[in-house]
Amino acid sequence: MFIAGQWVEAEDGSVREVFNPATGEVLATVAEGGLADVRRAIAEARRAFDESDWPQTPVVERARLLHALADKLEERAEEFAVLETENCGKPLRESRFDVNDAVNCFRYYAGLINKPLGQTYEVSDPMMTMVVREPIGVCGQIVPWNYPLLIAAWKLAPCLAAGNTTVFKPAEVTPLSAIKLFELIEEVGFPSGVANLVLGAGPVVGHELAASGLVDKVAFTGGTATGRSIMQAAAGNLKKISLELGGKSPNIVFADADFEAAVEFAMFAIFANQGQVCSAGSRLLVEDSIHDRFVEALVERSRKIRVGNGLHEGTEMGPLISPAHLQKVLQYIEIGKAEGATLALGGKRLTDGEYARGNFVEPTIFTDCTPDMRIVREEIFGPVLAVLRFRDEEEAVRLANDSDYGLAGGVFTQDGAKALRVIKRLRAGITWVNTYHPTYNEAPWGGYKQSGIGRELGTYGLDAYTEIKQINVNLQVGPLGWYRND
Ligand code: NAD
Repeated sequence: MFIAGQWVEAEDGSVREVFNPATGEVLATVAEGGLADVRRAIAEARRAFDESDWPQTPVVERARLLHALADKLEERAEEFAVLETENCGKPLRESRFDVNDAVNCFRYYAGLINKPLGQTYEVSDPMMTMVVREPIGVCGQIVPWNYPLLIAAWKLAPCLAAGNTTVFKPAEVTPLSAIKLFELIEEVGFPSGVANLVLGAGPVVGHELAASGLVDKVAFTGGTATGRSIMQAAAGNLKKISLELGGKSPNIVFADADFEAAVEFAMFAIFANQGQVCSAGSRLLVEDSIHDRFVEALVERSRKIRVGNGLHEGTEMGPLISPAHLQKVLQYIEIGKAEGATLALGGKRLTDGEYARGNFVEPTIFTDCTPDMRIVREEIFGPVLAVLRFRDEEEAVRLANDSDYGLAGGVFTQDGAKALRVIKRLRAGITWVNTYHPTYNEAPWGGYKQSGIGRELGTYGLDAYTEIKQINVNLQVGPLGWYRND
């Protein structure tokens, strides 16, 4: 762990083993932080915010540090990509993409922070009002295991750009790329106490970040149930909160879509990162008239997906993150069968040969799904697709919005007006037309409904790490004349 510029073990000496999900091998043994460790890190971050000149550091200096971090990460991109794949299983080409995106995220906020952020108003003579943005203070940042490095960049870049200090906590099972990233943070010379890394269990270390009265903001990415408990814990000192939570996103294919493109994007929507993507297109809605032909093509192509160790070039789908998560996904597959959905593809754990020691599951597709089924309503977070059919635009929109979640959604059609009509009615924060999944540092990321509160990335993501202050200035100083002077 990295606290106040020092690499430290847990105060009570606890450690945790970190596994490779493709092979079951132990990759590393890391410190397992506890309450004492996180409290010390919070105190150091507090001190760095309150007593050092970090919050007042000129923005050009903060931008320089972020650029230097981006450059170092870029120089070592392949090493980070391999480590990410070893620790979280995703195919190497996906990890390379994540590293590149993380580099760009640091550069984006390095560039944004020295652009004008304030406003001035000519209110009423002789007054002038200025609006300025200031850092919030100490931030607790808690992230999941599915994009360990990329989400670290999404959290750290705007937080540090804005002049906050942070205590950052990676997921228990995927701390390795964060540890390496903090080595670079040390190398580029962020001042002591500004960026702290604490490892450990969510209900202990994460909960303390959410509950501590010394933390001003908690930013969380993870499951919706955890998000709810963080919101409750944060109520004590009315922390600012940002929550990026789960999803069950609809991908709508109309009969007039480019057939081949829609088939491949439907696969990419659910099978990228083994379906462990908050914005995965896990509900596929297909128009009646092409439904059977579409499903047939989808099943045939998905059957050929190359499942394997993410380190092997050519692997298209890796293992699930852990044995426990594998069990959860397999249970959902049993639930789907019991609910009466038709298992059109997959459904089994892969155990032959090199699969035996990893957490591999087949790409899985259920058809004949109905809106009340649990496999349609609940986030499975694995390579399990639920296909539903619809008759017309009206029904497509109704089915798409029939969810507690509202993170993302896609529409495939060659009718531009129809695409926009449907997108405008989708109750979701991230949407796509004739594509699925691309996202950019420039645009806000976040969900409607129970998919979260607030937005990351873009200018919105920087706003989320600033307080807003109005400064009213009297340009003609003199007595007010409000009170009698006799
Ligand atoms: P999770 O909620 O179990 O854990 C996420 C993080 O929270 C981990 O670091 C964990 O240690 C910590 N945590 C757990 N319990 C806690 C508690 N009581 N208090 C404070 N922190 C606690 O989620 P996960 O299984 O790691 O990740 C999968 C979930 O993340 C999925 O639901 C997925 O949709 C969501 N996710 C959302 C986004 C998004 O941007 N909306 C992105 C990626 C993942």
